[in-house]
Amino acid sequence: MVIRMRHTRSHTANRRSHHALKAKNLSKCSNCGEMHISHTVCEKCGMYRGRKVIDLVKKVEKKQSKIKAKTAKKEGKKEESK
Ligand SMILES: [Zn+2]
Repeated sequence: MVIRMRHTRSHTANRRSHHALKAKNLSKCSNCGEMHISHTVCEKCGMYRGRKVIDLVKKVEKKQSKIKAKTAKKEGKKEESK
């Protein structure tokens, strides 16, 4: 059906009857027991099918170093302005 054609409320409702969102399929992590989306890496421990995929410790360290660099930059700017 072409969009510019007149469509009734029931037509619209009929089309939207397929728009509902489905709940994600959650499964239990075999490593830490947290729930995670199936066929996806566990966000808590970075494990997938018994294998470590993401090094979360490194990730956290990287994030902290980034924040540190940012604050250091800000402080440097403040000192310059003074
Ligand atoms: Zn896990």
